[in-house]
Amino acid sequence: MERISDSIVIIGAGWAGIATAEALLSKGINPKRIVLLERTPYPGGRAFSFVDRETGLALDNGQHVLLGCCDRFIALLKRLDVRSGYRLQPLLDIPVYHDGQMSRIASKRLVGPLHLLPALLAYRHLSPSERASTLAGALAFMRPRAEKLDAVSFAKWLQSTGQSDTAIRLVWDLVGTAILNGHAGEISAGLAAHSFHIGFMRGWQPARLGLFTRPLGDLARDAIDRLVARGVTIRYSTYVERVQVAKNKVCGLSLRDGSFVATEQVVSTVPHDALLRVLPDEWAGKEPFHGIAKLRWSPILNVFLNYDRQVLAEDVFAATDFDGMFVFNRGRLLPDSGQDGRWLSVSISAADRFRDWTHQEIIRGVQEAIGKACKDARDAKLLAAKVVWQPKATFLAEPGTWHLRPQTVTPITGLFLAGDWTRTDWPACLEGAVRSGETAALALLRSRQAFLV
Ligand SMILES: Cc1cc2nc3c(=O)[nH]c(=O)nc-3n(C[C@H](O)[C@H](O)[C@H](O)COP(=O)(O)OP(=O)(O)OC[C@H]3O[C@@H](n4cnc5c(N)ncnc54)[C@H](O)[C@@H]3O)c2cc1C
Repeated sequence: MERISDSIVIIGAGWAGIATAEALLSKGINPKRIVLLERTPYPGGRAFSFVDRETGLALDNGQHVLLGCCDRFIALLKRLDVRSGYRLQPLLDIPVYHDGQMSRIASKRLVGPLHLLPALLAYRHLSPSERASTLAGALAFMRPRAEKLDAVSFAKWLQSTGQSDTAIRLVWDLVGTAILNGHAGEISAGLAAHSFHIGFMRGWQPARLGLFTRPLGDLARDAIDRLVARGVTIRYSTYVERVQVAKNKVCGLSLRDGSFVATEQVVSTVPHDALLRVLPDEWAGKEPFHGIAKLRWSPILNVFLNYDRQVLAEDVFAATDFDGMFVFNRGRLLPDSGQDGRWLSVSISAADRFRDWTHQEIIRGVQEAIGKACKDARDAKLLAAKVVWQPKATFLAEPGTWHLRPQTVTPITGLFLAGDWTRTDWPACLEGAVRSGETAALALLRSRQAFLV
């Protein structure tokens, strides 16, 4: 038996785990006491990269973006001195294609929600009266009472604020699905309204779009390297089978290789379904863990396309085809291919509808949709294409899930929870993951056992 009983063990080396370790370090915990146990041979969790065998390029499992409001994630990269891996647009600017026409979701340097006013007034995908009701409806986002709105769907709530079905589809659902990974009809109005409030109602700076310029896996590896250089331990390919609990207290972890790690302080950052597997059976059915089983996954579909010529001049655009898709100029954002405008990465959130499509059908459909928006793509030849399915991308923030997301502190002494799906008040995202890790570290430090620095 391994005795590291004064160690703080973090299960999982995704961004929640990385943030937990960094927060403990920055609060003065001896780095030798901090141990990360990670199931896979790499860090980064659900934000990972893989090397494509055909091209040798490091492709991300899914196109990730940030907003300017993701301040904890941005600050974490700075504190860990991770080489700049993203750039923020000076002002939010996303061309949106619908029925062959282009309009823009874009900001001006104005305070509060006014920064979006000029773009909404000119948003040609809506009629003038729909634009007016969209503006009036947007005021409801100024003070959303998120918990109260959690029982209704976002679509129903938007209808109650006077939004037409077209406005819901071409504004709120298009943006909301990308942020919450669920369509307006299936997600909680509470979390959606709160997310729009944080991202878009507080001025132009929080709304700036952040685009990654390095593979995500490299960022996570750099972050872990910095932690290890400061004395933190990480063990890869280490599967935690069970959190062992005696008399309501954590006493250790059983690993899949049959070994046992004695510890009294654990931060779990594993996804919701994985937590139910590592909890002792007698706890999985109790509050606050009981409701976790009701959380469902929502998939994200990513399609990489390599054209024989430049087809895209911009960094990114959105199109209403495929229930809403976002197309990124991977060739420009990540210069490894040297093919600006020729390598595209297409992200389709809440992609359940395409579950039974073949890869060929998906590629053909996406290619046609891109052709509608970029005329150069119509005559271009496709040299390579790759479909990446992430069936377990994020939890689905359905109505009623606000209270199913557990808080950091649990009734088991010494067990703390983090992860994008825990009660962060944020949608499942990198920023939520980082915030959850920081919250868990602080909660652990407040608990009396932790003061043995
Ligand atoms: C395709 C895709 C696109 C996305 N797009 C965006 C985006 O644009 N912007 C954004 O902000 N977010 C996006 N997200 C969401 C974002 O990636 C996640 O919210 C975030 O990475 C979650 O981090 P986490 O640390 O909470 O969980 P995870 O990344 O899941 O980390 C948990 C870790 O625990 C490990 N683990 C699990 N079980 C065990 C066990 N028993 N023992 C040991 N280790 C274990 C896992 O291997 C994993 O490394 C996207 C996600 C996907 C999949």
